[in-house]
Amino acid sequence: MQPLIDHARNFPAAIADRRQEFAQLAHGQRPLALFISCSDSRVVPSLVTGARPGQLFELRTAGNIVPRYRAQAACGVAAGIEFAVKALNVPDIVGCGHSHCGAVEGLVNRRSVESLPLVQRWLSWAGHRPSPAPTSTSTNHTPTYQETDQDPTTIAQRHLVTQLDQLRSYPCVARRLAAGRLRLHGWFYAVDSGQVLVSSQLSRVFRPL
Ligand code: ZN
Repeated sequence: MQPLIDHARNFPAAIADRRQEFAQLAHGQRPLALFISCSDSRVVPSLVTGARPGQLFELRTAGNIVPRYRAQAACGVAAGIEFAVKALNVPDIVGCGHSHCGAVEGLVNRRSVESLPLVQRWLSWAGHRPSPAPTSTSTNHTPTYQETDQDPTTIAQRHLVTQLDQLRSYPCVARRLAAGRLRLHGWFYAVDSGQVLVSSQLSRVFRPL
């Protein structure tokens, strides 16, 4: 922790030659995009995109999960989306998944989160649960991916596409997409190589950005 404290203490001096740029930030924000990504410490949106202060409105959740819209449910994710879209009028939203995601691992392997009841409840909002092919006696009606032969990257990318689907369930998002006032992007970041892939047409097909 001490290196973080030292850096923060030194920060005003470190940005002394950018005084004007920072002073401007006091007048408001006009971010270029809403960037929805995982809380994972290895995913650093401003580092990947080169965004400067004021350019990215960030929303970070465990597993970059965006719960499906529910009219009566106020939560940090819903509030962040509404504020970015309706108050800040962001022209773009990036939903960004990543490799080696612990939350996606928790969806695949329930035992990895069995001591984390709050995480388990949060993961239930993912809108899917990767699992082996259901048996004929299965009573689980949660949509599942039959991923027994899929690699973790494919599962994580499909997870992202599901979150993009759920994001479109928000009326303010759907309206602006339909009106051509908002663009939606699906990115997938590899934490070990730094490569960003983009979902083609928000589908399960990914290609280099
Ligand atoms: Zn993650």
